[in-house]
Amino acid sequence: MTTATHEETLGFQTEVKQLLNLMIHSLYSNREIFLRELISNAADACDKLRYQALDNDALYEGDSELRVEIEHDSEAGTVTLRDNGIGMNREDVIANLGTIAKSGTAEFLKQLSGEQQKDARLIGQFGVGFYSGFIVADEITVRTRKAGDAADAGVEWRSKGEGEFVVAEIEREKHGTEIILHLKEDAREFADDYRLQSLVRKYSDHIEVPVKMPRTEKATDDDGNEVDGSEVTTWETVNEATALWVRPKSEVSEDEYKAFYKHVAHDFSDPLTWSHNKVEGNLEYTSLLYVPGRAPFDLYERDGARGVKLYVQRVFIMDDAEQFLPLYLRFIKGVLDTRDLSLNVSRELLQQDPKVEKIKSALTKRALDMLKKLAKDKEAYQTFWNTFGSVLKEGPAEDYANRDKISGLLRFSSTHTDSATQDQSLADYVERMKEGQDKIYYIVADGFNATKNSPHLEIFRKKGIEVLLLHDRIDEWLMSHLTEFDGKKFADVAKGDLDLGDVEDEDEKKAQEETAKSKEDLVKRVKEALGEEVQEVKITHRLTDSPACVVLPEHEMGFQMRRIMEAAGQSLPEVKPILELNPDHALVARLEGADGDGFGDLARILLDQAIIAEGGHLDDPAAYVKRLNALLSA
Ligand code: ADP
Ligand code: MG
Repeated sequence: MTTATHEETLGFQTEVKQLLNLMIHSLYSNREIFLRELISNAADACDKLRYQALDNDALYEGDSELRVEIEHDSEAGTVTLRDNGIGMNREDVIANLGTIAKSGTAEFLKQLSGEQQKDARLIGQFGVGFYSGFIVADEITVRTRKAGDAADAGVEWRSKGEGEFVVAEIEREKHGTEIILHLKEDAREFADDYRLQSLVRKYSDHIEVPVKMPRTEKATDDDGNEVDGSEVTTWETVNEATALWVRPKSEVSEDEYKAFYKHVAHDFSDPLTWSHNKVEGNLEYTSLLYVPGRAPFDLYERDGARGVKLYVQRVFIMDDAEQFLPLYLRFIKGVLDTRDLSLNVSRELLQQDPKVEKIKSALTKRALDMLKKLAKDKEAYQTFWNTFGSVLKEGPAEDYANRDKISGLLRFSSTHTDSATQDQSLADYVERMKEGQDKIYYIVADGFNATKNSPHLEIFRKKGIEVLLLHDRIDEWLMSHLTEFDGKKFADVAKGDLDLGDVEDEDEKKAQEETAKSKEDLVKRVKEALGEEVQEVKITHRLTDSPACVVLPEHEMGFQMRRIMEAAGQSLPEVKPILELNPDHALVARLEGADGDGFGDLARILLDQAIIAEGGHLDDPAAYVKRLNALLSA
């Protein structure tokens, strides 16, 4: 019998209360996952003990057969999970079972609106972990002792999951952790042999630690006769208990791969695809990489969880080993098991080990190949792209060596479909290029409509030349790191001189030159009127419907990037745009006929309009409105 002393009642961290609330309401139809979470914790605890015992065998306290045991009592309505893993001391218990340590979680919870809180998918974005026990239990008791501590350093933790918990000191003979779930009235179905066994197989087959359940039989003597009244209990292993990645590919079923994914990624839904590889030779490792079907809440957090679960010769070393994949593949989840590192490797050592760099480059290729394969399934790839596309777009800047591979994986909006969905590949574009076209044209702006309706596209639409419509914040950054694809250079249609290559014939070019000549006087007058506002004024043939547009010099930073950098507090030297005028437009004709203040005002209006159409901001919008109104009422 344990006697508890030094009882202390403590309150849960606010976020834990929120999480508990959210979980209990949103996971009702998914209640069984509690078992997966608790077994996963027990298995982690065994992994940790095995790792620490590498240096200090005594930590096993004579019991090195790591295992998880599950028992139930249907009369009492309890389910008990027990492990002989690392265990916890009082401090650990208060920190681990009273707060949520993961950074970003609190922020995330705060942002959830009432409606969203009912959405089970949201909660799947982060592991619900230990607290998921309260989906099925109205009270949980934890008894634990840290391996290596004295027997009287045991700790008991109790809670009804309603805002507070009690911790107390207890005697505990064995190290490791025991978790007793007092099932809610409507969750008593879980106190059942068959139910528990099938859940263990469903969720924990691939875990290397054996999960055992008791079987009680009438004792028999050597001849097989029952021995009156007495019973024996044997502990039978219920799960497969071999690490999934160690098994040959051909022997692992799709369902097993999916279940394992849910374990490593703490996700509720299936992965989009995976790649399982064993490498022998110079480097020796096994990797199992997954592409999730949805983004974790901390995808864009600086210190969000990323990387693979690292094992060295089957011994768990660490979660989130981020050294093995580049940042732009941070959405990839999975396991790496290698013989090339030493068992006592640490995060610091990983940073210095040249083998790590080699494995990283191999895994990066694997991951990119896996995405290339996924791209054959249009629908699945679109899901991937909509979820992680803007992360992958960081690739060309981060990983110069794989730029071509990454380029092949990119998807964009384009005038071919005029849809905001980014679903056109560069290869699609190149295939559709016009006779004589030698560049891949694109436009960048804030927001899809700003790209789609930009005046810069007018000539391209008229000639039936496709233009990529880039409307993600990161797009200009991306394009500054891409120079060509399939031998074709990229060209921003809003920068530099318009060059349609051989798509235009000589006659057209000649006619344009002549028009430009005939407007030389107008150009001069406009430049005088606008003075320092513009770098240059030109006659253009890129416009058909609009009177004017602004263009940036070829190597100038674009408007979108400027705004991002300015928002980040950078002060940039001013750039003056080039104003281009459409010689065939009625307003330009009117301008030509105007003089004095009327000329100056109209020239100003054309410039301001062109800036607005670009998504730019006017220094003095009121002045623009005033001039425009004067024009309208004239
Ligand atoms: P996570 O497993 O993602 O860290 P959990 O909520 O599942 O989050 O668990 C919180 C922490 O509680 C774990 O990181 C671990 O330190 C501790 N813990 C939970 N269960 C056990 C256990 N059976 N043995 C030892 N420590 C445990
Ligand atoms: Mg956990």
